[in-house]
Amino acid sequence: AVVTRFAPSPTGFLHIGGARTALFNWLYARGRKGTFLLRIEDTDRARSTREATQAILDGLAWLGLDYDGEVISQFERADRHAEVAHQLLAEGKAYKCFATQDEIAEFRDAAKAEGRSTLFRSPWRDADPSTHPDAPFVVRIKAPQSGETVIRDQVQGDVTIRNDQLDDMVLLRGDGTPVYMLAVVVDDHDMGVTHVIRGDDHLNNAARQMMIYDAMGWDVPVWAHIPLIHGEDGKKLSKRHGALGAQEYQAMGFPAAGMRNYLTRLGWSHGDDEFFTDAQAREWFDLDGIGKSPARFDLKKLQNLCGQHMAQADDAALQKEIAAYLEAAGRPALTNEQSAGLLKAMPFVKERSKTFDEMIDKAHFILTDRPIQPDEKASKALDTVSRGILTQLTPHLQSVTWDRDSLEAVLNDFAASQDTKFGKLAGPLRAALAGRAVTPSVFDMMLVLGRDATLARLEDAAA
Ligand code: GLU
Repeated sequence: AVVTRFAPSPTGFLHIGGARTALFNWLYARGRKGTFLLRIEDTDRARSTREATQAILDGLAWLGLDYDGEVISQFERADRHAEVAHQLLAEGKAYKCFATQDEIAEFRDAAKAEGRSTLFRSPWRDADPSTHPDAPFVVRIKAPQSGETVIRDQVQGDVTIRNDQLDDMVLLRGDGTPVYMLAVVVDDHDMGVTHVIRGDDHLNNAARQMMIYDAMGWDVPVWAHIPLIHGEDGKKLSKRHGALGAQEYQAMGFPAAGMRNYLTRLGWSHGDDEFFTDAQAREWFDLDGIGKSPARFDLKKLQNLCGQHMAQADDAALQKEIAAYLEAAGRPALTNEQSAGLLKAMPFVKERSKTFDEMIDKAHFILTDRPIQPDEKASKALDTVSRGILTQLTPHLQSVTWDRDSLEAVLNDFAASQDTKFGKLAGPLRAALAGRAVTPSVFDMMLVLGRDATLARLEDAAA
């Protein structure tokens, strides 16, 4: 059975690259009836706050990336990591190294002067334990000194590293605490991780991690090191390219479904498919489709996919998402009446909207209360002549059947009687109904508002 994991270091927010790594692992597991685990790599005690972990949990929750079981804290497993180091020590696969920092520096200087590799070669590797001093030591693994290590990576292909380029990596520091590299391997093994999908900035670590797998006789997981995300200019993604936190996109009002779709396509492809549902993504996602070169973050494409997801989303579900969005942003909740109006308006509000804010903007006519405060352009549209026209129009709306065809007929007839076109009426009507010059269609608004609210607004404006 497939077991994947996401292993973020809590740095204060869920990076967009981390979100994509999590998503790939989640898709891979969920598409194969596998297990997706979450491990917080919180061994850096200075940086690892509860808030930082919470930010990651919030980001994953927003994206709908649910994990199985409990969150695993790497820090809490430190004893187990040390236990493995001691096992290797007992088996002669690791050794106590008493070299001091000065001695190591001396070794490096001499090696440099003589043009040799500066990789530290400890004299303690093969020392007789009876000669060990009573002094502080680190525990080092006995790295293979000849031959090659091959990382069979599902994305990068076979990556070969000459073993004489590996040093006897420290497993336990002088104070007995385990190093990160050991923690990762022990955790992945104990968690039963079968597939490690992560950023290719960890590719070099894989070679060193394999030493530990080999020394322990553990099965090496399937590796898939994915290229990092770049900005539109092809450079490594950084602040100047725009928002880096996944939740900044939530705050901008992008729907999670569109974000998932976009991030899935960011560095992975399935033929020419751009837009797809979650079910399709789960079914299609595989390691073969991951590209070897860095994907570029493209805000336009994100917007485009979000727009498509909005358009095909269920109205009631969108309504709930908007409510959640407003709440997360600390904005006032919708009243029942506003909610009901928004739901009715959803079919046209969601058209061509890429964010919740765009939808809220189109729904302004529902979300604003009487008396409507017209903006500057709308005020201009409500000049004396226009107000007079609205006054004359009102009686025609009192008894008409309140459906699209009848309203269109009434307004066209009325415009003709005024020797004008409906287009000329539209400005004042938009201003009266929404207080704005740019609104959804006048008929759409009238149908959602209903007769009473429409007449009340026209009368307010004409007064
Ligand atoms: N904690 C590492 C990071 O946030 C990931 C380590 C791993 O996936 O093995 O980059």
